[in-house]
Formats: sequence, structure tokens, C-alpha cells
Amino acid sequence: MEKESRNIITIDIGGTNIRIGLIDSNGKIEKITRLKKPHIGEISELILSTIKTFFSKEELKNAELIAVASAGKVDNEKGTLKSSSIGKGVLPLGKDLKEEFSKDVILINDANAAAYGEFSKYRDRTNNLVYITISTGIGGGAVVDGRLLGAEINATEIGHIIVKEEDYHILCNCGFENHWEAFASGKGIPKFFKEWAKKKGINQGKSYTSAEDIFQAAKKGGSLEKRFLEKIGEYNGRGLSTIMALYMPDIVVIGGSVVHHNQKEILEPMIKNTEKHYKLPEIIITESGDDVCIIGAAMYAFDNLREKKYAK
Ligand SMILES: [Zn+2]
Repeated sequence: MEKESRNIITIDIGGTNIRIGLIDSNGKIEKITRLKKPHIGEISELILSTIKTFFSKEELKNAELIAVASAGKVDNEKGTLKSSSIGKGVLPLGKDLKEEFSKDVILINDANAAAYGEFSKYRDRTNNLVYITISTGIGGGAVVDGRLLGAEINATEIGHIIVKEEDYHILCNCGFENHWEAFASGKGIPKFFKEWAKKKGINQGKSYTSAEDIFQAAKKGGSLEKRFLEKIGEYNGRGLSTIMALYMPDIVVIGGSVVHHNQKEILEPMIKNTEKHYKLPEIIITESGDDVCIIGAAMYAFDNLREKKYAK
């Protein structure tokens, strides 16, 4: 039987915030603090100094290792992170943490971490689960036959699936056109709305600066916005259909701020527009909210520690 005191220090570097927490082997958050993300040059320093003050000497000593979840690419061999959401350049955070605290450090892509954490919850029911996040961008992670795919190489970058059918030319955050993320992410939705309205020849002057404003307008009965959300639903349905074709998951867990604030408006048209020859998986909204990545990174680190993959 495991001791109750098994804990990992876990860090999640998100789009705007950094979370630093102490998480136990059941995925329970013992304590957590949230910081505003600074410029790339100050990220390591801020995390190192926060760890020293936020945790007691005892907590620091007892933590088995340190796990870090981040958007973009992670390199466990070099101890580095690289992501457009961090800034230009490579962040040697893994190396810095290892040197400062003399503990092993595991780095993992944030959406892959979330997929693993959700799989840990449902592993008694399935070996095949996909996690989708619809937030500033769109990302995901896939567990197939009980194994997280490509954790080290950041596989399952589903935001870059091509979903368009009409003649739109909308640039994705990656620099290419017509990816799912370009149309249906928090950042993409207002840009797509402008293009869509222009193409339909309706209400040309109308534009929004945030996705949330469009959802609010639709909820208040705006017919233009409601029609637009049906279009978003088509693209979400196509994205989900591609995921079903690739991975055949029994369970799809969905998270991310766009979904958390607009569950009905996202899920109903998304499900309606899936291709019907695939068996529809069970679709669940994550119960972990914004903590889904930090919990998942801890669960992944615990399991890899058990396998002694990273142990000293
Ligand atoms: Zn892209």
C-alpha cells in the first residue's frame, strides 16, 4: 500500500498564468498558487523563487520529483521548453530546476498531460481515450491501448487538422491556413466571424474582439451569432470526426475555457455534425477545470517514476 505522503511539485505554464502546486499520488491538489506569467527571461527565476517561498522545507524535501506541463515542445534530455505561448527562444527550465533542487524533473506537453490525467480517472472503463482542449488554441492528447501517444514528441497536435470546406483563407497560429484552431479556438473565433460575415455579405461592419462576446450575443438571441455558432459546430464536428477516425476512442474528455463557459453552445452542434458512420464516443467535460493539465502532469510523472524511467 502506498504511503499517503507521496507528493510531487508540479508546474503548469499556461497561456497567461503559471500554476505551481503540490499534488499527491491520487491526483489531489494539496496546495496550489497561481502567478501571472512574466516575459520568457524571467520565467525560470520566478518559478524557482516561488518554489522556495511557497513550500516548507519539509514539503520540498519530501517531494519525490518535479513535473512541468507546458504548451509546445518539451525536451527531457536537454531539460528545455519551446512554445510560442512562452515567447521566442528556448527555456531551460528543466535544467534550472534540477540544478537548484537536486531532484529529477519530468517535462510533458500540457494537453498530453491532461489526456493522461483523464485516462488515470477512467482507466477502469477504457484503454482508449482522447482529450481535447478548446481554449486560446486547440490541442489534445490520445491514449491508445492504455498508452499515451508521443508524450516525448508532443504528438496529437489536433488543432492543426484541416477542417475547411469553403474558400476561407484564415491563418492559424502556426502560420498555415485553415486549421481547426484557426476557425474554432478562442483566438480564431473572432477572426473567423469577421471573414464569415463578409463572405455571407451580411452585417459587414460587425466585428468582435473576443470569442466570449460572440457567445454572449448568441445567448441573448442574436440570430447572426447563432448561425455563426452553427458553422463553428460544423468545424468542431469535422475535427471530432477526424479524431474518431484516427483513434476510435471510447471516451472523449473536453476542456478549455471556451468549452467551460459555453458547454451547450459548443457540444450540441459539435455532436450533431460528427460523421455518422463512426460510433460516437462518450463525451465528458473534464471535472478538473483549469487544473486538468497540472493534475495530469503529476499523474504522468508518478507513473513514470514507478516504471523507474526517470529515477536516479
Ligand atoms: Zn495550425
